[in-house]
Amino acid sequence: MDATPIIETYARLALAIDRHQPGYLDAYHGPAEWQQQAAAGAPRPLAELAREVEALAAAVAQSDMDASRRDFLTAQVRAMQVSLRLLAGEPVPFVEEVEALYGITPAWTDEARFDEAHRVLADLLPPGGSLAERRDTWRKQLEVSVEQAGAVFPAIFERLRGLTRARFPLPPAEDFEMAFVKDRPWSAYNWYQGGYRSRIEINTDLPLRATALVGLIAHEGYPGHHTEAVIKEARLVVANGWIEHSLAIINSPQCTIAEGIATRALDVLLTDDEQIAWHAEELFPRLGLAHVDARRVQAILHASEQLGGVGGNAAFLMHARGASADEIVAYLQRYSLARENEARKSLDFLTNPLSRTYTFTYHVGGELLDELFAARGERERWFTRLLSEPVTPAQVHAWAGEQVRG
Ligand SMILES: [Zn+2]
Repeated sequence: MDATPIIETYARLALAIDRHQPGYLDAYHGPAEWQQQAAAGAPRPLAELAREVEALAAAVAQSDMDASRRDFLTAQVRAMQVSLRLLAGEPVPFVEEVEALYGITPAWTDEARFDEAHRVLADLLPPGGSLAERRDTWRKQLEVSVEQAGAVFPAIFERLRGLTRARFPLPPAEDFEMAFVKDRPWSAYNWYQGGYRSRIEINTDLPLRATALVGLIAHEGYPGHHTEAVIKEARLVVANGWIEHSLAIINSPQCTIAEGIATRALDVLLTDDEQIAWHAEELFPRLGLAHVDARRVQAILHASEQLGGVGGNAAFLMHARGASADEIVAYLQRYSLARENEARKSLDFLTNPLSRTYTFTYHVGGELLDELFAARGERERWFTRLLSEPVTPAQVHAWAGEQVRG
């Protein structure tokens, strides 16, 4: 079967599901006519969409399109089927939900890993009070104002963008705008607009920390979300005519790849020592924090990264083990060292249908890339493939597991 009607059905279905669950489409820069038609009239009945997605899955399986393209669509359509079941109120077992939506198997992280991270943090943080209080005090002294952050962002963008352009096939026409916003559930967000343009928003309700600025721009911009979206538009949509890459579905395996890329973006560009030197020699002095030990900061960041699985465990507690809200808040406070209000905010994230199991895309997505880099080396080459091909989590596993022929 010809690919064109398949892709049109895929895009129209995504647009139709977005009418039932606004935010389902994270980006859309496909044909405007499809979008306008989807927006007109009442949302289409869920049962009708469910029948159509079944037929779409069969059409994809029988099509003779390029294998990487077909594998990508198979995984995306499977996620769509489960989203429709969830929207219809059908109970879907938790593990099945995560496997279908994100193409990964959610695993409970052993608390021994968090305990070990706590031990490392206890050695690194200045004394005074409980470990959570010590980390709080430490983080407070690193907070900077919006004006201070705004003054160093141009330098951060310039360096990360320059490095990204030198190493990855970023089209010269790409550009972004940055905006400070309020009242958002996230700390920063990249909205891809199509035409090689993004809008990067930074939420100023949450404290901005001097230590997080570089990582934030790497994650959202260079070589994270914006870079991936631009390269995929150039390589897949413009060059190949693969229109399915002109939409991003928030509850789908493409997000696992996107967050894996974004969480490892900075470390692909700069070594630990380079990050430390940049903070010590330029950024901390400009932010009035010349006295802060950049090496210790980096070690604390790495130890804190080991707590990435706490959110996944909280999702297990909520959706698979029937824990109460108070139990989950207590769990988050104990293991992620969050303050009570922060833990309650995470709870909102875990109850929203669009984000309830999204937390796995970050740490499992990141670990998926680690597995690939550890098995195959040549980090830049693999990162380029992740940025420019229609990759699924299953494909990354397969790459990592392939025997290196020599
Ligand atoms: Zn992200």
